[in-house]
Amino acid sequence: MLKKKKTIGIAFAAVFLFGIALILYSAFFPKETTDEFFAMNTYIKSSAVGKDSAVACEKIHTIVNSLDADVLSRQNKNSELAIINSSGGKMSEKMRKYVYEMLEIYNSSNGAFDFALGAVSDLWDFGNAPHLPDEAEIKQALEGSGVNRLSINGDEISTNGAIIDFGASGKGIALDEAKELLSSMKIKNAVISVGGSILLYGDKTFTVGIRNPEGSSGSYVMTVSTPAACISTSGSYEQSFEEGGRVYHHILNPKTGYPVDNGLVSVTVLSDSGLLSDALSTACFVIGVEDGMRLAEKYGCEAVFIDSNKNVTASKGIKNSLKITDSSYSFAE
Ligand code: ADP
Ligand code: MG
Repeated sequence: MLKKKKTIGIAFAAVFLFGIALILYSAFFPKETTDEFFAMNTYIKSSAVGKDSAVACEKIHTIVNSLDADVLSRQNKNSELAIINSSGGKMSEKMRKYVYEMLEIYNSSNGAFDFALGAVSDLWDFGNAPHLPDEAEIKQALEGSGVNRLSINGDEISTNGAIIDFGASGKGIALDEAKELLSSMKIKNAVISVGGSILLYGDKTFTVGIRNPEGSSGSYVMTVSTPAACISTSGSYEQSFEEGGRVYHHILNPKTGYPVDNGLVSVTVLSDSGLLSDALSTACFVIGVEDGMRLAEKYGCEAVFIDSNKNVTASKGIKNSLKITDSSYSFAE
């Protein structure tokens, strides 16, 4: 009898100790999940650490797919954006929020961030069969394009023939949606990258590379150390082609309809907001270092500019957190 009691006691103690060990193990080695997929015309990678990491990655997958297909896609003719572009109408609460935020950036960048250049981008066809369009074609497309053609009244919108395009802000919006989800779950930290836009989430210091403008997508020329943030890079290397000895890329000057040609090769912007980091990286690319630096500062964002001579210009708040790892690059004086 005594022996049986002792055996039961030992069994209980073993189960108890095993439980404690499990709790300690998951505290020190919380569960990590990664997920990769293709949406918004780009590669998306989520990795999350924490009790809910598997569910979080699964939900982010669904949220981003739906943001793309149901709201922002231009390919899917049933998305909210496609319907607005073809016939205007009433914006959903979400769409209204994005459009008004982008309108603000359009105004504060003096029109450099123009999210209604879809017809001009389509002519260049960077995503499919990139080519140099005729000058007359560009002129004509440009005349029918631009935010100044939009009529917006409360939640009513009409594009008057212009085509709205979230190419420069949609990836950042995806980060904002992912961040909102993560903050409602038990997640210690996470890194969500949507093309050139990355969400760094959690209470720690992250170190990320800024891509080598001349190299492949895995190579970088400097690293930045930062607490949680959204970080977006717009680069002329991202979608480009060569014709007649010249290189053409996908970031357009809204005044000319041609690729921006100001010596910059990439601009990186850090912000709490994904939409801001994405949209401002494009806007700052268009307006150049000096005006771009002022614009980033106006929004409380940090920015890093790289030009074709490998000069790096960084805002004050980030410069000391940057480490140039490719010695052919250096800080401009
Ligand atoms: P990526 O898509 O490579 O991350 P960006 O965020 O800089 O790069 O966005 C570039 C995309 O934005 C283009 O492919 C085009 O769809 C659109 N675009 C091009 N020029 C402008 C502009 N001046 N303002 C706003 N959107 C633009
Ligand atoms: Mg952008």
